[in-house]
Amino acid sequence: MTESPVRIVGRLIVDLGEGREDRTRWQRIIYSRQPRAMYECYRTGCTHPVEGPVSGAADVKRFVDSIRTGHLLHCTGETT
Ligand SMILES: [Zn+2]
Repeated sequence: MTESPVRIVGRLIVDLGEGREDRTRWQRIIYSRQPRAMYECYRTGCTHPVEGPVSGAADVKRFVDSIRTGHLLHCTGETT
């Protein structure tokens, strides 16, 4: 059986950080190490291959939600 090769065009790296729940406030995390995220583009010719890192739970969520489509808006690398 032959498998078609998978071309990896980018990598999203997410560090969920380290923390504990705040018992006095529902769903609040007290972080001892903030969550972080960054994106690396592997497309040939990309002039902006590293995005981020960003840190903090809200910024990481926003970054993860949008970076793959957001990067393509200004990616100068090969898209095929
Ligand atoms: Zn790119």
